[in-house]
Amino acid sequence: MSQPHVLIVEDEPAQREVLSYNLEAEGFRTTKAEDGEQGLMLVEEDTPDVIVLDWMLPNVSGIEVCRQLKTRSDTRSIPIIMLSARSEEVDKVRGLETGADDYVVKPYAVAELMARVRTQLRRVRPSTVGQILTFEDIQLDSETHRVTRKSFEIKLGPTEFRLLTTFMEKPGRVWSREHLLDRVWGRDIYVDTRTVDVHIGRLRKALTQHGGTDPVRTVRGAGYALG
Ligand code: CA
Repeated sequence: MSQPHVLIVEDEPAQREVLSYNLEAEGFRTTKAEDGEQGLMLVEEDTPDVIVLDWMLPNVSGIEVCRQLKTRSDTRSIPIIMLSARSEEVDKVRGLETGADDYVVKPYAVAELMARVRTQLRRVRPSTVGQILTFEDIQLDSETHRVTRKSFEIKLGPTEFRLLTTFMEKPGRVWSREHLLDRVWGRDIYVDTRTVDVHIGRLRKALTQHGGTDPVRTVRGAGYALG
């Protein structure tokens, strides 16, 4: 089970970054497009679970992107959340007529948009939202980001949280540093493989701060595994 993937199609760089930052902090993987054309191209390359689509975009508009995706059988089922600065009811109706699954008016509260993304994901990938993962005495709630070991709450940074989520989805699986970089940091970002070791170290420290054995296993020449 991979991290849920959200495609953001938004031409305003600041808004794009805020969205991507918040979605990634919630454990989603994001890809970003700055116009409709690029958005359509990215859907081809790497099918997202949910699309957050701005209405007003250069070249191909958000409405047109939505219409194209919703008329194709292979992309029809991808939920689309439209963003728009227009609040008139007539626009809402038009937005929904193009097949958008939800509609959020700008300016929006980020928390509200996150909730809408989770709602759409629950429809398409129920197992990835609001799920409690358990490994031995460790519990991880993917929705609230709460991690506990025995009865102690474990505070983790966003990277350590994503690392632990990846491990807990497939206990026992050996992950190479390169695989972990792909899954946890994202394939577009260049990060040295030694960075993985640093964050594994932090994760281990956090998980063992109240005692208990280190659940992360180093597999010589291969990488890391949980259990
Ligand atoms: Ca725009």
